[in-house]
Amino acid sequence: MASLQPITRSLFQIALGGVNLFVIKDNGLTLIDTGYSRSLEAIVNALYRGGESPDQIKQIVLTHAHPDHAGSAAALQRQLGVPVLAHQHEAALLEVGLSGQAPIHRSPGFINWLIYQAFIKRGANTVDPLVVDGHLNHGDVLAVAGGLQVLHTPGHSAGHLAFWLKQEGVMILGDTCQNLMGLALSTVYEDRALGIQSVLAIAQHNFDQAVFGHGRWIRKGASQKLKRAFSRLQNQT
Ligand SMILES: [Zn+2]
Ligand SMILES: [Zn+2]
Repeated sequence: MASLQPITRSLFQIALGGVNLFVIKDNGLTLIDTGYSRSLEAIVNALYRGGESPDQIKQIVLTHAHPDHAGSAAALQRQLGVPVLAHQHEAALLEVGLSGQAPIHRSPGFINWLIYQAFIKRGANTVDPLVVDGHLNHGDVLAVAGGLQVLHTPGHSAGHLAFWLKQEGVMILGDTCQNLMGLALSTVYEDRALGIQSVLAIAQHNFDQAVFGHGRWIRKGASQKLKRAFSRLQNQT
């Protein structure tokens, strides 16, 4: 059963089946992503197990609108009455109950083929509609844990966001890329070349640790590792 896994002093990971959510503990709780639909109970239980209470959630921020990240946003918003924040491209989709509109392209490799066949191909591209309370833009800083910086990382989806907890040296990458069987492209992109550019732009920042929507936490040298892995890919495209 999922609990709160400490990543840094303020950042905790909740691993819910195939997807990771994050909680920042400072001045109440900030929830980053919400899992698939019907994850409400699992999230609440993970918080209790970690010694926290869901009524401490002050805001929900979304990396993007895909059903594994925004699936329970509407339910949480209804239940807790807290604001949900996202990039305006994703907000426009969420408000009409869509998780994506643009065609997606599967990344190369057997693992991606497998994930695509199992989860994405026949998966819903709808979510419970919700009214997004505020738009986040590149360069915004949320006032938690010394500043949570918003970085626009388009490619996987047009309004995808990553979040940098600069003071604690950790980048929350969402689906900018993944780390399931080593650092790699996410399984799908709307625009793969742009997605690679986004990873390389993020890797210009200096951070030791990185966490992902899908895959394992990198504890050391994360920005250097991203740079190495993705400059290779850039040269192939
Ligand atoms: Zn996604
Ligand atoms: Zn995802």
